[in-house]
Amino acid sequence: MINKNLDKLDKDNTFSLVNKKLKAFKIANPNKKVVSLGIGDVSKPICKPVIDAMHKAVDELADMKTFSGYGNYYGIEKLRDVIIKNDYKDFGFSIDEVYVSDGTKTDSTSILELFDKDAKILLGNPLYPIYKNGCLALNKNIEELPLNKDYKLSVPNKHFDIIYLCSPNNPIGNAYTYDELTRWIKYALKNKSVILFDNVYEPFISSKDVPHSIYEIKGAKKCAIEFRSFSKKASFTGLRCSYFIIPKQLDKNVNYYWKERTLNRFNGASYVAQAGAIATYSKQAKKIQKQNINEYKKNARFLKKSFIELGFEVIGGDDAPFMWLKIKEKSWKFFDFCLNKLNVVVIPGVIFGANGEYHVRISALGKLEDSKIAIERFKKYYEK
Ligand code: PLP
Repeated sequence: MINKNLDKLDKDNTFSLVNKKLKAFKIANPNKKVVSLGIGDVSKPICKPVIDAMHKAVDELADMKTFSGYGNYYGIEKLRDVIIKNDYKDFGFSIDEVYVSDGTKTDSTSILELFDKDAKILLGNPLYPIYKNGCLALNKNIEELPLNKDYKLSVPNKHFDIIYLCSPNNPIGNAYTYDELTRWIKYALKNKSVILFDNVYEPFISSKDVPHSIYEIKGAKKCAIEFRSFSKKASFTGLRCSYFIIPKQLDKNVNYYWKERTLNRFNGASYVAQAGAIATYSKQAKKIQKQNINEYKKNARFLKKSFIELGFEVIGGDDAPFMWLKIKEKSWKFFDFCLNKLNVVVIPGVIFGANGEYHVRISALGKLEDSKIAIERFKKYYEK
C-alpha cells in the first residue's frame, strides 16, 4: 500500500523536466554550446584547507587508535562548538541547541516530524518547492499565500502554527529586513507559532538592513528554528553537511523532542564531512570562501545590471545568488524560447508555485564568463 500522498506532488513543473528538455536539446544539437543561468549548484571547488582536513580524517578512520564509528547523533561537539563561536557568538547558545545534519533539504522537512498532523502550516507561493512537497508527502495541513508587492510574505491576519520563511530567498533572491522579521517574530509570539527560518544563503547578505540571523531579532529564541548549510558557503553541495538551531527557549520543549526523535531516526552526518566542516572555519578557508562568494556576487551584479539594461524588471540579486525576472510569456514558453533560440537555460518560475508564472529565476552561481556569453545572446536577439 503506497503512500498516496506522493501522488499529490507536482509532476509537470519540476527541475527534472528542465533537465529532460536540456538533454533532448543537446542530443538534437550536439554542436551548439548551451550556457546555463539556471544552475542552483556551486561552480567552485571545495578549498584546500578543507580538503586537507578531510584527508586527515580519512587517515584517522584507517587506524583503530584514531578510528571513529557511530558518532554523536547530533554532530561532533567540536563542530557544534565552532558553529556557536563563529556564527552565533553573541546569542549565548549551548552546544545542546545546535544540530548537525546532512543538508538543509533534509532538515527543512525532517523537522515536520516534530509537529502534530493538524498543525496549520503557512507557505509563500512562489517558494523553494521542497517545503511544500515535504508537507504534501506527509499529508500536512498547508495553506499557501501569495507574496506582497515587494515579493515577500506579509504577516497574515489569521492563525498559523508553523511558518516557513526563506531569507535570503530562493527563488526571488531578496531578503527580509530587520523590520519585516520583527513583525514576524511578534506574530509568532502572539500566535504561539514556530518560524522555520531557512538561512542557507546567509553568506550572500550584504544589505545593512538585513540580519544575518533571525536571532538578532528580540524574542526569536522563543519562536524560531534557524537552518544553515555548508553547501553554498563552502561548496559542500556534493559532500553534504548542514546545521540548525533549536533554542531551548522554544515552547513545549521542542529541543527535547527533537533529541528523542533524532536518537531514533538519524545516526549523524558523515565523520569526514564534519571534519571538513570544522576546517571551513579556519582563517585560510574563510578567506577563500569569502572570495568565492564575492565572485558569485560580482556575477549577480553583472546579470542584474544587464537584464535591467535589456528592459526586464528584475527583483533580488543583492543578498542572494538568485534574481527573479518578470516576463510577458508563460514561464515554460520563455524557457523553451531561451533554450531553442538563445541556447541559454533559465528556470521557469512556475516550478516554484503557480504564482511564479510569468517569471523566471536567474542564478549567479555559475561562471561570469558564461553569464557574459548568455547576455550577449539576449542582446543580439532583443536589439534586433
Ligand atoms: N534551502 C534552500 C532555500 C535552497 O535553495 C537549497 C538548495 O538549493 C537548500 C535549502 C538545500 O541545501 P542543502 O544542500 O544543505 O541540502
